[in-house]
Amino acid sequence: MKTRILFIVILVFISLTSSNSQVLYRKTIAIPDISGYLTLKADFHIHTVFSNGLVWPTVRVQEAWMEGLDVIAFTDHLEYHTFDKDVVYDDNRATEVAKSYAQMYGMVLIKGTEITRSQPLGHFNAIFTTDNNKLRVKDSILSITTAGQQGAFITWNHPHENNKGWNEVQEMLFKQGLMNGIEVANHNTYFPEAQQWCMDKNLTMMGTSDVHNPITFDYNFQKGEHRTLTLVFAKEKTPESIQEALNNHRTAAYWKDKIIGKEEFLSEIFKNSVSFLNTTITINKKNKIKAVLYIKNSSDIPYKIKFTEKPADITIPTEILLEPGKTSAIDFDGKSPGQKLYSLTFEVTNLLVGPNKPYVSTVNLTVVNQ
Ligand code: ZN
Repeated sequence: MKTRILFIVILVFISLTSSNSQVLYRKTIAIPDISGYLTLKADFHIHTVFSNGLVWPTVRVQEAWMEGLDVIAFTDHLEYHTFDKDVVYDDNRATEVAKSYAQMYGMVLIKGTEITRSQPLGHFNAIFTTDNNKLRVKDSILSITTAGQQGAFITWNHPHENNKGWNEVQEMLFKQGLMNGIEVANHNTYFPEAQQWCMDKNLTMMGTSDVHNPITFDYNFQKGEHRTLTLVFAKEKTPESIQEALNNHRTAAYWKDKIIGKEEFLSEIFKNSVSFLNTTITINKKNKIKAVLYIKNSSDIPYKIKFTEKPADITIPTEILLEPGKTSAIDFDGKSPGQKLYSLTFEVTNLLVGPNKPYVSTVNLTVVNQ
């Protein structure tokens, strides 16, 4: 009897100590929603051990969840299968392996692949594919056409690596509706020319990590870095809504604390992040202004603002960093401009509404006499 009890105790001990339960922590990325849409944080360009990435798919789900992402897509190279002696040679498998994990963590996981060809085509991602193995054909145009037939959303990746720029292959794919977006930011690189192409041709702007390593090898989260992302303005957090948003170009790229995208979206993100707490300026009897302007930034984006136009007699710091989650108090003084109402114009230098072109806004101040 004693031996039996001892045996049970040992079994319980083994089962407890061998449990692989763990606690993970999710960061929140505070970027506000815009009217009618959620602002989803997405990375549509991720590699796993199913091509030449170094990470198992379920760990990719956990990495992304911990960073506060909502949506990811695995886009393993059709052409590289570095670990094919150890993992099955099947380009649908990464998504299948991680599917239940994504569900458990409430992440949207999208099937995709990378079609990796030499110039002049370059690298393309196809996401929302149904069978990646059918895309593994020698003829690169046939591969992209097959993705198109599967209803995929197709993007041109890191176009800065193609020094020929927009060439006849891109033109042909674009005209056939087989190029729906371009990476304006990939990992460490921003490509202003791609932003211009997206604006000219109404293509969707993408920002992606293109991560192959464990994510912490590529980004220093301790120093406040974030992975390069696509912000998707979607009606709901579902694959269908996300695809609808991509098809209708409702995205922006989030790269190194900068947001790259259309002015209509960036202006709303700024206005929903930043509030000017007092806009009334008092003038004393000697016609002097001595005031503090409070600006509250309730987002995680460190906005950099630069005053470009102001009344000549007003002194105010030219460049101000609006730290995330903080209120800045800006001292300003000077002589009364002699009007009841005047405006300060400023650039938000990390919101890029055109190639290296900052978003410009104004704040109106009311003057009252003491
Ligand atoms: Zn890639």
